[in-house]
Amino acid sequence: MRPLACFTLIAGSVFSQSFYLPDDAVPRKETVQLTIDPSRETFEGSVSIDIDLKAATSVIWLNAKNLTINSASIEQAGTVHPAKVIPGSSERIGIDGGQFAPGAATIRIMYQGRLDDKALAGPYRRKVEGEWYAYTTFAAIEARRAFPCFDEPRFKTPWDISIRVKRENKAFSNGRQISEIDEPNGWKLVKFATTEPLPAEMVAFAVGPFDVYDGGVAGHETPVRVITAKGHAEEGRAAAQATAAILPRLEAYTGIPYAFGKLDHLALPAGAYGAVENPGLITYRTKSLLVPPKQETAAFTRALRALQAHEIGHQWFGNLVTQASWDDVWLSEGFATWISAKMMDQDLPPERVHLTAIAARERMMAVDYSARSRPVRIAINSREAARDVYNRVVYEKGAAILLMLEGWLGEDQFRDGLRAYLNEHRFGSATTDDLAAALRGASGNDPSRVLSTFLNTAGVPELRGQLLCDRDSPPRLRVTKANPGSVPVCWRASRVPSSCTVLEGPSTEIAMPMGTACPAWFYLNSGGTGYYRTHWTQAPLPALPELSSAERLTLVYDLRASKNAAAQAALARLVSDAEPEISNAAREALK
Ligand SMILES: [Zn+2]
Repeated sequence: MRPLACFTLIAGSVFSQSFYLPDDAVPRKETVQLTIDPSRETFEGSVSIDIDLKAATSVIWLNAKNLTINSASIEQAGTVHPAKVIPGSSERIGIDGGQFAPGAATIRIMYQGRLDDKALAGPYRRKVEGEWYAYTTFAAIEARRAFPCFDEPRFKTPWDISIRVKRENKAFSNGRQISEIDEPNGWKLVKFATTEPLPAEMVAFAVGPFDVYDGGVAGHETPVRVITAKGHAEEGRAAAQATAAILPRLEAYTGIPYAFGKLDHLALPAGAYGAVENPGLITYRTKSLLVPPKQETAAFTRALRALQAHEIGHQWFGNLVTQASWDDVWLSEGFATWISAKMMDQDLPPERVHLTAIAARERMMAVDYSARSRPVRIAINSREAARDVYNRVVYEKGAAILLMLEGWLGEDQFRDGLRAYLNEHRFGSATTDDLAAALRGASGNDPSRVLSTFLNTAGVPELRGQLLCDRDSPPRLRVTKANPGSVPVCWRASRVPSSCTVLEGPSTEIAMPMGTACPAWFYLNSGGTGYYRTHWTQAPLPALPELSSAERLTLVYDLRASKNAAAQAALARLVSDAEPEISNAAREALK
């Protein structure tokens, strides 16, 4: 829900009360030229934004924060109108140039911005080993500190970026460099290729005396580089090798080659996040990205691959297809978290698949049980709320929901649904409903109600199962559910293969096939992929030799919550499990 504006001023000003820009101007392309010397606290910029006006208007609103505007104009139908700048709020400005008709127009603004040497967001600068560098971290709402723009994910446009820098410096941005032209007084102008459509928050640039580790090409011939502070290029080798391992896996899974031309990994001395997935210029904290070759360890390589699988995974989930609003940011972060675990599982034998994801889900459930938990989807309507865009729930519960959907709909059907979703919304925006439609098309099952249950409410569903066997009818499995909403449950029993049912009401009876004898055991989370807690009054001891590792680990966590003698006995057996995650979790549960 969006709060209503509480008063009305002149036309247009009503929107200055809202966190979101009005719908009457839609950007089509943004051209940015910057002049940056990282040793100076200020930088100069000019933008030219092609827009479509949906209605006649006199004021066009766009985002700008802490920028000093020197001049502004609007060109329409070949006439340039000088414009007045209306300060709207600390987040936006209005460009007032008279009356404009619906149709194409171009806004031009000259301005000055700041390169803070303490900030972690927006454009900022740092001194590294005696040299000044400029960096950016824009997500979610800080691109507006670097240039006036339409700073919301629903506005995706191509970007033409060029940066004037001192000749001793290098410059990088999302696109590959297409030219470098010397200018007077020791400057040069570096131009970058026009980007694919990107939201403002995914634009990035960097200026300084960087060094570059050339990682050759990976996957479908994408050039890979690691950009480091001066003198540290060799420390980028492990990162380039990780990309060579991970990028082809993501291309194979999605069926779509990497779409952003080149892939640079840039080391930041400081940043608000562990990494940011800017297409073509992914940024990381230095200590997560770089390592001197002699200090490379298996653990560092694994962590780096998992981090890259998340960030490169975003190039499909978040960048190729962007959530239409921050409310749906789980379509980026849930997916990147889920696909990172899935790509990392490819290094493991099949019996160890999902163990990492299930352990992460258990940590998430502990948070989700707490009264302070929040739903995955919440409305973002203010700068304060925007701080919560990247809440842990969005990542971890989002990923656990995807694991559940994959288990319920089927691994191949789920992948085919995701490929359809990516192809249909390629270079555009999408919503949770778009995802549901694609998954329904590929699997024949509509996940809309399940998604609504798990995304829009906090908490963990609690299930209980009971076998009902009598002489006159086939055995039945009665499943009761303590929480409202739709929960897909995949179950199996001795001599009865796995199948799935969506539980709607508080109690459901599932009939087993004709001729089935009363099973010796049943298990309510086939594959261990469901996001719910099963309560056991009697632990399924005879099932243990039949359960997969993922199911046994899930069982350990469920038994821990059951706290009865049967559960304790089963946990005591699981302490000697062959998989260390399972035996350790069982030992912990018995403490
Ligand atoms: Zn992410």
